[in-house]
Amino acid sequence: MKLYNSATRLREEFIPHEAGKVSMYTCGPTVYHFAHIGNLRSYIMEDVLEKYLRYAGYDVKRVMNITDVGHLSSDADTGEDKMLKGARREKKTVMEIARFYTDAFFADCAKLNIKRPDVVQPATGCIGEYIRIIERLLEKGYAYIAGGNVYFDTSKLERYYIFNDHDEEDLAVGVRESVEEDQNKRNKADFVLWFTKSKFQDQELKWDSPWGTGYPGWHIECSGISMKYLGEYLDLHCGGIDNAFPHHTNEIAQSEAYLGHPWCRYWFHVHHLNTSTGKMSKSKGEFLTVSLLEEKGYDPLVYRLFCLQSHYRKGLVFSWENLDNAAAAYQKLLARIAQLLPALGTQASESEAGAALRRAFCDALDNDLNTSLAVTALYDVLKADIAAAEKLALLADFDRVLSLNLIEGARALSQRQAQESDPEIDALVAQRAQAKKARDFALADRIRDELKARGIELIDTKEGTRWKRA
Ligand code: AMP
Ligand code: ZN
Repeated sequence: MKLYNSATRLREEFIPHEAGKVSMYTCGPTVYHFAHIGNLRSYIMEDVLEKYLRYAGYDVKRVMNITDVGHLSSDADTGEDKMLKGARREKKTVMEIARFYTDAFFADCAKLNIKRPDVVQPATGCIGEYIRIIERLLEKGYAYIAGGNVYFDTSKLERYYIFNDHDEEDLAVGVRESVEEDQNKRNKADFVLWFTKSKFQDQELKWDSPWGTGYPGWHIECSGISMKYLGEYLDLHCGGIDNAFPHHTNEIAQSEAYLGHPWCRYWFHVHHLNTSTGKMSKSKGEFLTVSLLEEKGYDPLVYRLFCLQSHYRKGLVFSWENLDNAAAAYQKLLARIAQLLPALGTQASESEAGAALRRAFCDALDNDLNTSLAVTALYDVLKADIAAAEKLALLADFDRVLSLNLIEGARALSQRQAQESDPEIDALVAQRAQAKKARDFALADRIRDELKARGIELIDTKEGTRWKRA
């Protein structure tokens, strides 16, 4: 498989550290509010990546943190803890907020068929790990104490900016617009590992540490949790593109300084879901959730299909019109699969044409996770000159990765259609069949016209006449 690696800016052959095994880390949500469908775009694409790696035969271990402390309103260590803001908004404790929105996040993931990672670790559960790493960073001279906080000293690194080509000064914390400079920092890019003093004194969750009672910075959480569960060599790290800087840049800095060797090999960044006014974000306050899509009558899997139809490295613009197009495509897809269902359960051996279709599906995903081509492969199966049972087997197989509930959805659709029976219409259809048999075509046509006027469409087949509401 070839994957674009943001750290090298190259499409590279994916070769994990240990043959056949993949260690995969994902930055989890900051649980101070519902996840919006932009966040979930990232998790959908990461889910496809994980499932495809499994499909390809890798033994994947995936770990995700839950950020329930330390993520400040600005990624650059200024502002108030987001969790505290959420707690105040809802007049609850931070832990109540964390529990509620963590559950809500996984409920949304379940609706989108996003698999739960093997390990889900709230950041507040690993304080000892962070303290251990920070102590070592201080010992090795990569960190310093100033104004009560512990900072990482970025000037100690040969190369700090891993993901960015542009002017380093532009990126440096303190010169970016709306970011206040912290006078304790020796270098603009330095970042906090442990807070005991922030401008906001009312932090609810605090722990004892060698540097005083305080709380960890956001970045150290992911290094600590990743190393705890996945060891010193990480194969794959995922997140939305906004996490590349400063979050992932800082994760690399502190992890490699701590370990003394390279840490993570491949960086997978999903680009943003945008609205007409820019990136969808929780802090802007206006965002769309899975529940809102459902209230408006959309199956959450329509949103999954919408995401799969475009490449993860391209920004995706959300509009209701685009979502409607995905909804129509999903319905059509299910309707076509529903026609194959009578062959379900029939044995099907793979033909040469079937093997070629499977190869095309894999080629698409091997090519930097080209999910839109993988979706096209579904239509190619439907069009192919192979037995219905083989088509169903291939669709079910591809759905192990795409997770669009193709067979279950088609089954539900045909059940719904079957339930749309109406004895009066059934009787008229039978009467028309009798009239045709008796060669009374005038009567047969009259019945057809009457049904048409009532919005009923007749479908004459070899097995008899079916009807549907137009
Ligand atoms: P957060 O809950 O803010 O920590 O973000 C959770 C994940 O969603 C991170 O991987 C972010 O990079 C990602 N993310 C945030 N906004 C968007 C967006 N508009 N589109 C795609 N991913 C996003
Ligand atoms: Zn992270």
